[in-house]
Amino acid sequence: MKFYSTNNKDHKVGLREAVVRGLAPDNGLYMPERIGALPKEFIESLHKQSFRDIAFTVARHLLGDEVPEQELRRITDQTIQFEAPLVEVEDNVYALELFHGPTLAFKDFGARFMSQLLGYFARQQDKEIVILVATSGDTGSAVANGFLGVKGTRVVVLYPSGKVSEVQEKQFTTLGENITALEVDGTFDDCQRLVKLAFQDEELRSEFFLTSANSINIARLIPQSFYYFQTFAQLKDRSRPVVFSVPSGNFGNVTGGLLAKRMGLPIQHFIVSTNINDVVPEYLRTRSFEPRPSKQTISNAMDVGNPSNFARMIDLYGHSYEALAKDVSGYAFTDAETREAMQQVYAKRKYVLDPHGAVGYLGLKKYLQEQKNGVGVFLETAHPGKFLEVVEQVLDKKITLPPALEKFLGGTKRTVPLTNSFEAFKSTLRRI
Ligand SMILES: *Cc1c(COP(=O)(O)O)cnc(C)c1O
Repeated sequence: MKFYSTNNKDHKVGLREAVVRGLAPDNGLYMPERIGALPKEFIESLHKQSFRDIAFTVARHLLGDEVPEQELRRITDQTIQFEAPLVEVEDNVYALELFHGPTLAFKDFGARFMSQLLGYFARQQDKEIVILVATSGDTGSAVANGFLGVKGTRVVVLYPSGKVSEVQEKQFTTLGENITALEVDGTFDDCQRLVKLAFQDEELRSEFFLTSANSINIARLIPQSFYYFQTFAQLKDRSRPVVFSVPSGNFGNVTGGLLAKRMGLPIQHFIVSTNINDVVPEYLRTRSFEPRPSKQTISNAMDVGNPSNFARMIDLYGHSYEALAKDVSGYAFTDAETREAMQQVYAKRKYVLDPHGAVGYLGLKKYLQEQKNGVGVFLETAHPGKFLEVVEQVLDKKITLPPALEKFLGGTKRTVPLTNSFEAFKSTLRRI
């Protein structure tokens, strides 16, 4: 399989190059050249297959044969080390819980798949692969945990000192092994700038095999289609139309779903649900795409003002507004509405929504008011314990932390302090 750039369909590269580069040289995003339908028998027998078998078949279909079958099997098995249970919250309203991985958010799927795939490519060469990540919290933990112990790779996480929550910080500063955390005396923007400068530095590039692990990497997108198939494997009533509501920020999660539909999964409709950072719902309403600076909300992993995967979404629909709008609706919600949904669902069903899942729930309910006969699934993208302060305050109740999170909190933080100067970063990279 070849992968083209969304900025130029004639620029095509193999899987290895697409994954190692992340972003195409023309700043486009990589997409698989062909997204054919999977065999009908596969789709009809999903409920008889394991999550791992499903993941392997889908990955093989999208990636082709650049990775040998046995290796790909190992990679998908290592990715699917936890379940994605479908939980009925109300009649015909289900939560697809994507937070049972090591860092308790759906980004674990993408990070694990990407780390295993890069680990495979690392074994094909002599030089260690160094992954640089700048993080304001969540990406750093998912990437660091995904790469932990993967031979031939080393992760360097840069984060702004004092500007991430304790839980987030512990998830990437307590790991040791091939993970190093650089605690930068500066802002998240400083961290991003240092990473960018490193990629432009000829000396560093000759000394190290540098790559990034940001969310636009095709290796993070592809595994995000697996759990849409896994939903159908768990649905009892397979005769009703199924719609998905996806709480969205950079729109990678929903793009995974659009890929699944293109591969033949009978999803009737998508709802993209956002907080007040509503650039895509607004586009669906007005046909005009107007990126703008993001605003802070309680569902902060979705505070994105210029969603990067929008380029992939419109590319999938041949840049036709009509075609995209036929498959996708969008709604935006305020923090007050989000809090109210969390309270109501807890009062009525004793189900604890995190602020992101709550936005997904709201979008689903709004859509189902108009389309009454459907079965609705919203993606629960993070464990409520990840947003402890908000959830405990909104529900006026103590949240029990899952054991995985407790384990991190008990760990010892180890970081390398760094000023925000590039020269200091360069010498640190050589030293650690
Ligand atoms: C990243 C994230 C999102 C947004 O996902 P996108 O793929 O960027 O749309 C939603 N919820 C949580 C908890 C996240 O961490």
